[in-house]
Parts: sequence; structure tokens; C-alpha cells
Amino acid sequence: MATYRRLPVTFERGEGAWLWDTEGKLYLDALSGIAVCGLGHAHPAVSTAICEQAGQLIHTSNLYGIVLQEKLGNDLVRLAGMDRVFFANSGAETNEAAIKIARAYGHHKGIDTPHIVVMENSFHGRTLATLSATGNRKVQAGFEPLVSGFIRVPFGDAAALEAVARNAANVAAVLVEPIQGEGGICIPPKDYLNRVRTLCDSQGWLMMLDEIQTGMGRTGRFFAFQHNGIVPDVLTLAKALGNGVPIGACLAKGAAAEALGPGSHGSTFGGNPLACRAAGAVVHTLEKQRLSERAAGLGDRLLKAFRQTLGDLKGVTDIRGLGLMIGIELDRPCRELVGQALAEGLLINVTADKVVRLLPPLVFSDEQADQLVDRLSPLIRKFLD
Ligand SMILES: *Cc1c(COP(=O)(O)O)cnc(C)c1O
Repeated sequence: MATYRRLPVTFERGEGAWLWDTEGKLYLDALSGIAVCGLGHAHPAVSTAICEQAGQLIHTSNLYGIVLQEKLGNDLVRLAGMDRVFFANSGAETNEAAIKIARAYGHHKGIDTPHIVVMENSFHGRTLATLSATGNRKVQAGFEPLVSGFIRVPFGDAAALEAVARNAANVAAVLVEPIQGEGGICIPPKDYLNRVRTLCDSQGWLMMLDEIQTGMGRTGRFFAFQHNGIVPDVLTLAKALGNGVPIGACLAKGAAAEALGPGSHGSTFGGNPLACRAAGAVVHTLEKQRLSERAAGLGDRLLKAFRQTLGDLKGVTDIRGLGLMIGIELDRPCRELVGQALAEGLLINVTADKVVRLLPPLVFSDEQADQLVDRLSPLIRKFLD
């Protein structure tokens, strides 16, 4: 169906941060399939894992034990400081699990109509519940009636959350992205997540973090919440978890980890041997090669370089980022930049109309980072001319 406005290019092969199209033209990938291929394209550890597992066992069913799922679950729980995992196949589906956990938790506490506080300008997916949670009218328009039970507040505004606590008695959880990705690489005040944590503790609300875009090393820590020294009650992952093999994980701790019991949720494909083997290889590689630290260093290098090359331009209103999640905000809509960069062999993205979004793979070399700056900065300069 015509659900995508596609760019006029088709890729045939990839290696690391490089992609070749069907004409043999070479591209530098600074988007990673929207924060999915954190290890770059055709990473040997992932490719080998998939090939070996495909020859052994792809799928059985969650009716049976799945050793690879248990192993991946244990690794994720250890890394995140959580208790349990539910495996799904996409980001939206993973957030659906979180939403169901919040409702089950609320009902268990005796709240008849448990509500979830969500943010303006957020993105949580395209299923009915997750588009209802999403703070973007363009995502919702035409699909009413929306799912009810969400209360919306401005992002990054802890005082607004505290006001909800004073005025609403039916809240079960808060769902928030540590950094809004689709929303334009919006970074909240440094102590925001700490204040959300404190409020959730005092109110008995679940703190649910959507780390589908920020997770898996991208922001310079394995999970973005680790910058704040807190731990959420619920954590959702997808995108980079399988480096392109569809898999999502909803992690939970404490009471949230006990909210769903046998028969209350499920997924046919979720956590099957193939997906878990691939994600296991991703987790192992991220840890072994300390790629979150690499992302932090590369991010600093890129931010510094972009500030040097673009900081003087009046049309550039902000250059911000954390690790390899970088936004260059202009004073005008700039969607054309995507096509102009593509023509020059560079893959970038524009989100929230005016924000050039860069999500390069964590395996980017210093040379590739410098090349990205050397090639993109003149394009932006020319565009603003
Ligand atoms: C991409 C994304 C989703 C949705 O993931 P899908 O796999 O496309 O369903 C949800 N939340 C955030 C923060 C995302 O970036």
C-alpha cells in the first residue's frame, strides 16, 4: 500500500556504514535504517549467528522452552537491572506490552480506569494504542476513535507531571522517551528523568521508558537512563536490538514484572530462536567491543565538528545530541536536504520538519565521521544560502 513516500533509490549490498545501490553507486549511511543497524550492515557476528541458527532451528513456539530466549532475557535483565522480559517483534508491539502492564498494574491497585501520562511531541508507534499514546496529531488523524486512558503533558517539564499528581487519582504509569527521536532529537533537562523517578516512587506510578530509539548503546551508555543513575520500572527496546532482524523486548522489574501472568499476553513469533540468536550476537558484540563508549566519543567528535562548521550560520538554530543521536535544527523546513544528500551519496534524515537527524552506526570510523561533516556541512550551508 502507498504508506511510504519512498526515495528513488534501492540498495543491494552493505558493509559497515557503506551501502551500494542497484547501479553500483556507493553511499555513506548516517541513518542506520533509523537507528536499527547499530553494528552497521552485514556485521559478521550477526550474519554468522543468523546463518548458523537458520540451519539449526528457526521457530518452535512459546508453548515450549526456548534456550536462546532465556539466554537473551538473562543478558538484557543483567544489563538493565530489571527482573523479567516479554519478547515481541517490533517497537509498537513492545510498547503495547508496556501499556498492558500499566493497566494490569493499575487494576491490581484498585484503580478502575488506570491512566498513563504521556508526552507532547512523543512517538510510540503506529498501532492503535501506541498512536493514541503518541503526541503527534499527524500520526493520529483519520484513525479516531483513539484508545482512551492517556493524559498528556509537555515533555521535559517535571512540574507539569507533579501537577498531574496533585490533580489526578487514576494514574498508573508514566511513559516517556529519554530523548525524543522522531520528535526532533529533543533532549530534556539533565535532572528530568531523576525527577520523574522520584515522583513515580512517591505516587506509586510505574516509570516506563521507551528506549526503542535511544537504547542499545546509541546515546553513549547501553541504555540512556544510565546517564541519570536511575532504573525505570518498565523499559521497551526494539530497533537496534536485532540489528535488522525484527525483535522487541519489554523489560520490567518489581511489581511491574509480575503484572502479566499466563494467558494474559502473548506473541506467536516473539522471542523465537532465530531472532534471539541474532539479538544475542548484537548484545555480545556491543559489550565486547564497548560500542556505547565508542558512540559517546564519536558523538562528541561529531557535535564539536558540526558546531565548528555550522555554528556561525544564522539559519542553524541549534546543534544538539547525545552519543550518536544528533540533531541539527534549522530555522525552516528542510526535507529537500534528504534528496540532495542522497544525490551526493549520503544517507541522512529530516524529522519534525526542521531537524536534520543523524543516527550513524556505532561502528562508524573516525574517518567516516569526518567525512560525514565534510560532506553534510556544505550541503546545509548551500541550502540556507
Ligand atoms: C521507532 C520507534 C517506535 C516504533 O517502533 P516500530 O518498530 O516501528 O513499531 C516506538 N518508539 C520509539 C521511541 C521509536 O523510535
